[in-house]
Amino acid sequence: MATVTSKRELGRGERVLRGVYRLRLPLPWPGVPHCNAWAVAHDGGFVLFDTGMHEPDSREQLERALGMCNLRLADARLVACTHAHSDHCGQAPIIAERAGCEIWLHPSHELLRDMVEDPDAVFARRLEVARQSGVPAEPLQRYAEERKPSETGFAAVIEPSRELLTGVTIDTDLGPWTAYETPGHAPSHVCLFQPERRLLISGDHLLGRISLYFEYGTSPDPVGEFLHSLDVVQRLGARLCLPGHGRTFADVHAHIEGNRKLVHERLDSVAGALASGPLSAFAVVPHVYGDRLSEQNAQWLLSEVLSYLRHLQALGRAHPIAGETERWTA
Ligand SMILES: [Zn+2]
Ligand SMILES: [Zn+2]
Repeated sequence: MATVTSKRELGRGERVLRGVYRLRLPLPWPGVPHCNAWAVAHDGGFVLFDTGMHEPDSREQLERALGMCNLRLADARLVACTHAHSDHCGQAPIIAERAGCEIWLHPSHELLRDMVEDPDAVFARRLEVARQSGVPAEPLQRYAEERKPSETGFAAVIEPSRELLTGVTIDTDLGPWTAYETPGHAPSHVCLFQPERRLLISGDHLLGRISLYFEYGTSPDPVGEFLHSLDVVQRLGARLCLPGHGRTFADVHAHIEGNRKLVHERLDSVAGALASGPLSAFAVVPHVYGDRLSEQNAQWLLSEVLSYLRHLQALGRAHPIAGETERWTA
């Protein structure tokens, strides 16, 4: 399925609160047309939370969005990234170099390093997981052939000046923001909370439109981590959420509940699929997502199902049966 947009979106910036700017940056992904970076006023310049991905014109798009808010790239005082996915930190090295500022990021970003240093190995690992999970040879072959190896979305490996761990604070003109580790979506994920104004920069942990994604293969139980991270964020009592994609939203508690409910529904339908007999992860996908499976979302949905299976395994509700194709039983 090709994207219908004939022309790429442009970077756009808008003020959402005094001293807080949303920079909406284009992405080349079907179904995810843009991501947000957030500029928060600080010391005559701004702290930039997230960066957009690295592409040939991405710096231009960021400068365009900043310009609409009367901000200049050179005035970035710090780049802080919610997690190590390309749409959130891909462009960080370019910005840090231009502005002469530091990059802060959580230390669990091995996948980023692997993607930059050896993208072929990462891709081969993904293919192997897909094969073991029961994806048939023919679509796998096509997927391998259609890949463009140079496009990782990362400008370079990131060596953070400071590790964004729980309790680290970032000063801005609005007051300090505190980092909270919120793994699940990615092991490197953090949310940033400004307690006086109860603002939450949520990255991809909480989005306005509930949409789950788990980085499978980099931690033992991403779903369990995600559920725990929802509890962590719930305790903060945020009033307004500034997410990594889409508009700000105020009903933060309802979104947390919605995520929790959806995870439990998915877990139940994965467990339900296994009731009829052992299945490969790939064979579970249609039981959970119906006919939504396509070549574009296959990797996404497979990662999700594998993550649910691992969580069910941790709960003692599912067990893998080793073999050429790994199958799962209740
Ligand atoms: Zn992400
Ligand atoms: Zn994202």
